[in-house]
Amino acid sequence: MDLCSQSQRGALREASRKQASPRRWSRVNGWSWPLHTFQAVAWITLFILAFANFGIFVPLLPPDWNLVIYGVTGGLFCFHCVVHLLAISIDPAETNVRLKNYSEPVPTFDPSKHTHVIENQYCHLCEVTVNKKAKHCRACNKCVSDFDHHCKWLNNCVGGRNYRYFFCSLVSASASLLCLITILLYVFIQYSVNPEVLRSHPLYEDVSKDTWLLFLPLFPVKTKTLVVLGIGVFVLLLSALSLLLLGHLLIFHLFLMFKKLSTYEYVTQNLHQKTPEVPAGRKELSFKISMPQVAGAPLLHHLRSPGPGAVPSVTLQLGLLKHSPLLLCWHNLRFRVCVCARARVRCVMQCRCV
Ligand SMILES: [Zn+2]
Ligand SMILES: [Zn+2]
Repeated sequence: MDLCSQSQRGALREASRKQASPRRWSRVNGWSWPLHTFQAVAWITLFILAFANFGIFVPLLPPDWNLVIYGVTGGLFCFHCVVHLLAISIDPAETNVRLKNYSEPVPTFDPSKHTHVIENQYCHLCEVTVNKKAKHCRACNKCVSDFDHHCKWLNNCVGGRNYRYFFCSLVSASASLLCLITILLYVFIQYSVNPEVLRSHPLYEDVSKDTWLLFLPLFPVKTKTLVVLGIGVFVLLLSALSLLLLGHLLIFHLFLMFKKLSTYEYVTQNLHQKTPEVPAGRKELSFKISMPQVAGAPLLHHLRSPGPGAVPSVTLQLGLLKHSPLLLCWHNLRFRVCVCARARVRCVMQCRCV
């Protein structure tokens, strides 16, 4: 019981600290402050791969293919840049939120007044009515129409207004990576079989056999074989890793489309299914905490009340549960606090709102 009290006191302190945080402005789109590291990583990777493709490896291909490959990869790159920029720049917020024009910061959620951020399709933070599938994103601090997920790579929420651009950017990026990997494999195979096929440009007539020219045909730069091979291996690994991540995400979204689910719906459904039941033989101890004793404690205001006038309850399970970090969700409808043998606390939660 002492362990539970200590853990709860810590949790309540943390909740109070969060509660005291000042009003925050909502973010408009992916360009709004603060920018995310993943966003920078995505753009840097995109430009490294484009630079290597157009500047180094496509010029090594036979002249007959050159124009076609420039056309295909160039078209894919331009299309990707356009849909990627649209997915970042479009404000996915609810119509009523956009109509307010972000004129003032969003108030802090007061758990003593409301159980949830959105109740009866009214958001207490955005102070507007929202549609059924809208969720209040904590990162963007606003309600997003047909919420799918908050994407750190775009630094923007993905919702009904920008989902198609997000999906098109996944498709175009995966197709571009496939093209680049094919080109690189062709270059490596030709280099090991017959390197002269890669040296078809007229400028190669004036250079030695271990010298290669980068950035043909406009800005030829002489370099050694090892440098080109090193760049090739690095770009191949980077492309393969990017394709692995993006391909996985693309297949996941195709699966969601087939199931007619959003990412959020899929995650919440899984969370419901995976919430473990109390194993047979373990001690279960339940007790009730009356609200007046914990007035102002945000944690307890989020506990589900069993019915009108009834007090919320916390279920403690004493058992050898796997250790996990303290996970407390302030917006969950119900949860169980589990204390393991080594005094770690695990919050098994079933989130129904963001
Ligand atoms: Zn909201
Ligand atoms: Zn968001």
